[in-house]
Amino acid sequence: MSAATSMPPLLPESKLTACPDCGAEVSRRAMSCPRCGGPVAQIVIVASAPPAAAPEKPAQSTSSRGVYCVLAFFFGLIGVHNFYAGFVAAGFVQLILSLTGVGLVVTVPWVIAEMLFQRTDGKGLRFQ
Ligand SMILES: [Zn+2]
Repeated sequence: MSAATSMPPLLPESKLTACPDCGAEVSRRAMSCPRCGGPVAQIVIVASAPPAAAPEKPAQSTSSRGVYCVLAFFFGLIGVHNFYAGFVAAGFVQLILSLTGVGLVVTVPWVIAEMLFQRTDGKGLRFQ
């Protein structure tokens, strides 16, 4: 019997690594070589995801569709609802057309259509 069926010596897991720059033994946990100062540790760059931007609430008009429709109903032929909502040019056109009398042929269906279908103000923002 041999004295010892000696187990192969457990190699201690080396805690040292060679500095890539100067070859000195450096701890694996060291960020940089103490001899030359060169970087040792593989710096894992964790890509930090930018903070998820909160879903932007679509901007809303300061004008209300209810007020717009009421104005259109009572004063629409002189473009008041369009002045209210920021469609200044359209308001002027309706005002001028209606004042001519003949233009009512245009402004009456125009204002009705606006009451029915207009959902945004002059800046393109949805009515409240
Ligand atoms: Zn070094």
